Amino acid sequence: MTDCSNLLSQSPGFQQLAALASSPSQSRGRRHPEPGAPTRNPFQRDRDRIVHSTAFRRLVYKTQVFLNHEGDLFRTRLTHSLEVAQLGRSIARTLGLHEDLVEAIALAHDLGHTPFGHAGQDALHDCMQHHGGFEHNLQSLRVVDHLEERYPAFDGLNLCFETREGILKHCSRTHALALEALEPGGVAQRFLTGQAPSLEAQLCNLADEIAYNAHDVDDGVRSGFITLEQVAQVPLFARFMQEALAEFPVLKGRRLLFDSIRRMLSAQVYDVIAATQAAVAEAGVGTAAQARQAGVLVRFSAEMRSQSTELKRFLFKELYRHPTVTGSMDRATRVVRELFSLYLAEPPANLSRRSEDDLHRSVADYIAGMTDRYALSAHQQWSGQSLFD
Ligand code: MG
Repeated sequence: MTDCSNLLSQSPGFQQLAALASSPSQSRGRRHPEPGAPTRNPFQRDRDRIVHSTAFRRLVYKTQVFLNHEGDLFRTRLTHSLEVAQLGRSIARTLGLHEDLVEAIALAHDLGHTPFGHAGQDALHDCMQHHGGFEHNLQSLRVVDHLEERYPAFDGLNLCFETREGILKHCSRTHALALEALEPGGVAQRFLTGQAPSLEAQLCNLADEIAYNAHDVDDGVRSGFITLEQVAQVPLFARFMQEALAEFPVLKGRRLLFDSIRRMLSAQVYDVIAATQAAVAEAGVGTAAQARQAGVLVRFSAEMRSQSTELKRFLFKELYRHPTVTGSMDRATRVVRELFSLYLAEPPANLSRRSEDDLHRSVADYIAGMTDRYALSAHQQWSGQSLFD
């Protein structure tokens, strides 16, 4: 049998990108210095810390698009994160980027999400509008830097700079200035200087988009909120459905859906690999530091970019804005708002209050950490009514 990894590692594209990969031995380190582990590199160790964290286990009961109680087969934040890690690692291996770093970032990228997906985040942001707001990316960093309570000597998971940088994928200038004041030259600096993050972090952003587009088509059709016929009108999906039908003319239903998605995923992975290798060759960068100056290099081809954006637009309009989905989200918004007012008035006994935070921030952390079902049962206990039966 041919050893593909050997063949890959000899290709010029692989060699060129491998020189730009993040290296654990060159890591900018942890905020609290620690001795190395005997058998694992620092990025592997980060991945392991993330997998063992409380916030990671909570992802299993947090909404991706469908509320947790709406069905057992829909994606949750946990299965979404696993799919992002799978796609990210697969692309990283072919490109010569650091797989362990990609895996660590992918598994941690959604740790800061509230219950009830984006509706929960928007509701919490409204509650916090005069107290610094709420943003899930910043919250993911806050979870790994401060909120996890596992180690005797420090708060948080004390992850490497490179993992933390990848977790903070967006950041407003206001938040970047605040973070920079606390950690000069740290993970927020690039938002002020306009530099790109590591190629591994760039890859996780794209793997996130590839994963949710594909699994939301799958979950959307499973839910019945969108139909296979509707998705077949979207050019990116249509191309692979036609390909599947050309090879298997009698294919229909779920197998047709899966086979089309499978082909779409593979084509997107190959597209990212080719487009990224071309972008790196064109940019002519020879070191990781030069790559950061060259803007985002891990990318789709122009055609795939526009088709992926079109699929995203379709999902937004037909699935995320479907009346049944938004109806659930309206009720979820009410749960978050009412719990927020309740806890401000009567802080729960197990509310963890960090000395530097005001009560609003502590309540936001408390609610953001909840799973969908914990939030629903806390709300039901208080209000005596169930909003989701
Ligand atoms: Mg995600």
